[in-house]
Amino acid sequence: MSEMSKTKTYRVEGAAGASYTVKISRIGDALRVKCDCPAGAYMDPCEHWKSLFTGEDQNYVGLSDEDILEIQGWLDESDLDEALQNLLYFESHEKNMHENLARQKRALRGRVIDVLISEPQA
Ligand SMILES: [Zn+2]
Repeated sequence: MSEMSKTKTYRVEGAAGASYTVKISRIGDALRVKCDCPAGAYMDPCEHWKSLFTGEDQNYVGLSDEDILEIQGWLDESDLDEALQNLLYFESHEKNMHENLARQKRALRGRVIDVLISEPQA
């Protein structure tokens, strides 16, 4: 049985005119990604390929909807599956935490103002 080896290369065009190239490969059980953006240079997982798995909008060039579906399938039972699922899980919770924190700060700020303006006259 030959080891599965597949690679796709595409570009992501950002709003500010920046364009990054992403190369993603599935070789046997190994899923490997390389992006030439600043985060990718530090080998940090970046939005230019995580978006393939979160469905977040990106301006892909050279990547069809069928390609995206195929790459999503590459994650299954790869060596990145559990780690990436965990990362996406905590990132979504982090986003919710930030939203809840901002909401609580706004609620508290309103009460602080209420307390100040309703302070009993001496
Ligand atoms: Zn990137």
